[in-house]
Amino acid sequence: MREMEPLADPVRDEVRIRVIYGGICGSDVGVYLGKLKHATYPLRPGHELVGTVTHAGPAATVKVGTRVVILPNTFCGECSYCQNGDTNICVQKKSLGVNMDGGFSQEFLISSKFVLALPDDLPNEKAVLIEPFAVVVHAFKKVKITKGTSVCIVGCGNEGMLAAALAHHLGAQVTAVDINPHKLELVKQIGDIQAVLPEDMRLQSGQFDVVIEAGGTSSSVENGIQLVRPGGSMVVIGLAQEAIFPVAHVVRNELTLYGTIIYNFPSDYLQTIEYLRDPLFSVDAIVSSIMPFTSYQQAFENALSGKYGKVILSFNEA
Ligand SMILES: [Zn+2]
Ligand SMILES: [Zn+2]
Repeated sequence: MREMEPLADPVRDEVRIRVIYGGICGSDVGVYLGKLKHATYPLRPGHELVGTVTHAGPAATVKVGTRVVILPNTFCGECSYCQNGDTNICVQKKSLGVNMDGGFSQEFLISSKFVLALPDDLPNEKAVLIEPFAVVVHAFKKVKITKGTSVCIVGCGNEGMLAAALAHHLGAQVTAVDINPHKLELVKQIGDIQAVLPEDMRLQSGQFDVVIEAGGTSSSVENGIQLVRPGGSMVVIGLAQEAIFPVAHVVRNELTLYGTIIYNFPSDYLQTIEYLRDPLFSVDAIVSSIMPFTSYQQAFENALSGKYGKVILSFNEA
């Protein structure tokens, strides 16, 4: 933990945020372990954030007292991608907690361009999932997942768990695969989901309409492709550095592979909020624990252990 200089008052369109909750993400754990190549110390992690606006600059677009979720990936609004609504592939994108300081702190300043007001009926425990869940909501737009679609989720980290929850919510027949039995136990708590180890998937090869690859390893990509039925699709969320797969298998079976990165703002955030507002969409199985930020070391160790779902830091004063 670092003691920070007192914050300056917000200028221009900036707002000062008092953080309520921050979710620990795989990339925060990567920063914590020093494994993220494009992140260099000293760096404050944290990008899955909800908080309250306590001060607003003269040109800010949100008022003091507003409860907000943060958009941690900035965009310029001017490049051809931004103009088209594809803020996720903006040429000037920067990421909070990766190549600039993040929000695991009691307070920070940010441009009000990068916050979104929350509806009153969305509790903080759900709102803190907006950022990671928007990744899944965006990915699902690549394919058609509806009642009865057979969907296989490969990798049950936080994104995989959220993907399993959304596919289940949409009425799909969901199978989830992970090498970690703890994750399989967690994913089963979402609902009627078949949760299996990779070695138990052999018989289901070539059977799924849609495979969501959220493992981010070469083997999860390579195994994922084998699971897609002829004419089906695989959506790759994970960031495997590389993978080797038979191109002829993809060609002969007319498979479609999609890459997908984060989300567009505000469209995907708004749709994510609508899913989370639905009382039928439960996140109890996904959020494992909420810990005070002063126990951050234990919280990161828990997130690393592979035994938990989403671990959340609370920045409320004890
Ligand atoms: Zn994240
Ligand atoms: Zn741009």
